[in-house]
Amino acid sequence: MQVRLEQLTKAFESRKKDSVIAVNKLDLTIESGKLIGLLGPSGCGKSTTLFMVAGIHDVTDGKIYFDDRDVTELSADKRGIGLVFQNYALYPHLSVWDNIAFPLLNSKDMKKRLKKQFAEQHSNSPNYKAYINKLVEDAAKLVEITAYLDRKPGELSGGQQQRVAIARAIVKSPSILLMDEPLSNLDARLRIQTRDEIKRIQQQTGITTIMVTHDQEEALAISDEVIVLKDGLLQQQGAPQDVYDNPANQFVAEFISRSQINMVHGKIATNKLYLGQEEWFPLPAPLMDQEVTIGLRYENIKHAMENIERSFTASVTAKARIGGISTVQVRLADGQQITLLNDHDESLRESERLNLVVKPQSILVFNQKGEKILQ
Ligand code: ATP
Repeated sequence: MQVRLEQLTKAFESRKKDSVIAVNKLDLTIESGKLIGLLGPSGCGKSTTLFMVAGIHDVTDGKIYFDDRDVTELSADKRGIGLVFQNYALYPHLSVWDNIAFPLLNSKDMKKRLKKQFAEQHSNSPNYKAYINKLVEDAAKLVEITAYLDRKPGELSGGQQQRVAIARAIVKSPSILLMDEPLSNLDARLRIQTRDEIKRIQQQTGITTIMVTHDQEEALAISDEVIVLKDGLLQQQGAPQDVYDNPANQFVAEFISRSQINMVHGKIATNKLYLGQEEWFPLPAPLMDQEVTIGLRYENIKHAMENIERSFTASVTAKARIGGISTVQVRLADGQQITLLNDHDESLRESERLNLVVKPQSILVFNQKGEKILQ
């Protein structure tokens, strides 16, 4: 099912009676069957957006459409969504089976729908109870927790509990699955495993899924598309690689690069780009003289064997190694420091002068407002 937001806005009244605009005129379309990573720093409005789509928060302004149906005023239980929360929100006193079956057995609308489905499908199950059991078992199988159906949530690991929560959300065949930071409570290893599981489950079911996360790596790894928010405003929507390669602005470039990007001061003067104070290369098209910030990702800066076109010189100030990644810090002529990956050359010495070169299409140039003006 397609999700479309039109000028979606949420303002919260604060105690001092001034209002916080948590989500600001958000326009976006999420195509049916996609897995979307809704991304941005703390407080940017991710959860508020998700909760408006879910029907948990009223909207202050704007519209929400599921396909062509306006659901803005529809209550949460009538939207056909599945919800997964960061803290799993399982019932501790119920077994895993009962937790998964809960939405099927405790909503009048759902019971009506299931009885109709049961009648229509001429199910192979001998009776309605067996039909429910099959739905629960199918959901448990999909998330691979069949072995734990008799246990209580407290007898499961965090990762297993989150799988139960996912099974509970998908057992009612929702049209849209909404996940609010589903991996945050898991340790690093389980996070990667569960993240890949979410991808597999989403691909198998084809349910349009929106996953809120503040972890860009998580979003880039599994999403078909990422949506980046800042201060309640949409910054960019696109395929992960496109957003990485062509960030819309300085904020997205820094947010998506997990800090592995240098932001170097420079300028444009008489249609030439200056790196620091040094003239670097002529611009492909004319641009106004101005101060700029140049974004250079660590991995795109390479050693050049000699002084070739567009190369620049810098001297080594430090080397560092974190896990399998080795970096070198170098100083430009005007004193600015930049960092690059030290791919091959372990023998670099302090103060050694290097010729460096950057692939032209990976040089990001931003104006003083942080808008991208050249790539
Ligand atoms: P996080 O990653 O920290 O969960 P988020 O991006 O999900 O953040 P939201 O929870 O959507 O951000 O919050 C957006 C803004 O709205 C924040 O400034 C927050 O303080 C404010 N806000 C959220 N809920 C309420 C509320 N119930 N009352 C008042 N302000 C709120």
